[in-house]
Amino acid sequence: MAYSSRRVPNALTWLFLAALGAATVTRLWLAARQIRHVSAHRAAVPASFADSIPLSAHQKAADYTAAKTRLGMVDLLLGVVVLLVFTLGGLIESLSAAWSRLFSAGSITHGTALLLSIVLLQALIGLPLAAYRTFGIEQRFGFNRMTLRLFIADLARQAVVGLILGVPLLLAVLWLMAKMGTFWWLYVWLVWVAYSAALVMIYPAFIMPFFNKFTPITEGDLAARVGRLLERTGFKSSGLFLMDGSKRSSHGNAFFTGFGAAKRIVLFDTLVSRLQPPEVEAVLAHELGHYRLHHIAKQMVLSALLSLATLAVLGLVIDRDWFYTGLGVRTPSPAAALALFMMVLPEFLFFVQPLTSRYSRRREYEADAYAVSHANAQELERALVKLYKDNAATLTPDPLHSAFYDSHPPAAMRIARLAEMRSPS
Ligand SMILES: [Zn+2]
Repeated sequence: MAYSSRRVPNALTWLFLAALGAATVTRLWLAARQIRHVSAHRAAVPASFADSIPLSAHQKAADYTAAKTRLGMVDLLLGVVVLLVFTLGGLIESLSAAWSRLFSAGSITHGTALLLSIVLLQALIGLPLAAYRTFGIEQRFGFNRMTLRLFIADLARQAVVGLILGVPLLLAVLWLMAKMGTFWWLYVWLVWVAYSAALVMIYPAFIMPFFNKFTPITEGDLAARVGRLLERTGFKSSGLFLMDGSKRSSHGNAFFTGFGAAKRIVLFDTLVSRLQPPEVEAVLAHELGHYRLHHIAKQMVLSALLSLATLAVLGLVIDRDWFYTGLGVRTPSPAAALALFMMVLPEFLFFVQPLTSRYSRRREYEADAYAVSHANAQELERALVKLYKDNAATLTPDPLHSAFYDSHPPAAMRIARLAEMRSPS
């Protein structure tokens, strides 16, 4: 009876359960809507795509979307169970108690062991679904190029890279939390921002080659076109590279990595093999637009500010008993606070998602407008239609699901906007 007052669920427990419940019900409802909407429009290609997308491709996209959404629902329910087991179910508490037999409780080594074991357990729990996503769904729809051997090799490489990059950060954060007093969160934030910036800089040259091969493209029509595009837009880059994305998946992509003059332009081989050089040029012009309109820089500033706010909130609750007991931890420690915070916070922030999605879609339209003024709009339209088709992206998403989650505008709206820009009335 002695600790009953600490064990009883408190207001935070109920608040957490309410947030988790609301977010979960909403996610399931949106997923069900998406499946229903896509299936209801499966019989006919939307009029504006009737000439460019065959019915069979449209139906494949519908089935692929439904299959992915269904898997997402399973993933979601599993995530809820795992979250509850870790928090209110007492798994974080048990792990903390187990590690305190080896290391002194609350020490930096104890905290590192606790957090690493949590991350490892979560990764193991997520593994069967990740394997099913690749070898079940992607395989069934003809997108998977990954062998089991590569899948396992990737896991090993990810673990090694994760440990090399993650453990020093973890040690630094736990040390600052232990030594810096009330304002530890400000120091942690500074380290976090410096660390993220460093990561962006070393990622293209030191991390990505672990996973893929990059071949410079220096000759031919594509290289010449990209060279002229860079000149027109005043963009400095350290080179154009072809990436062997086809060894994992047939989905295509193009992106920029790095900072300043060390920026690289990377094209998936799958993209280059499907699109004509003028189409690749238009897609690149869109990506360049994100840079030239400072979308990337704004994104980084925004996420730095968000992490500051988050850490400040953690600074407020970290010494409160109710924060731990309310979420199923009886032995407070900085590491337990970090773990709880990272697991629980997304549930409280779920309803912010439509705002960030909306913001992101607006930037996509801006990048499209930039592409239209620096490359050929019709080529971009053609490229997008090919990409929707090749990636089996649905042309008929549920409007509410799309408004909530989609970082890119729905296909029909995006193409219509491009056509409008091409022929201003
Ligand atoms: Zn974009």
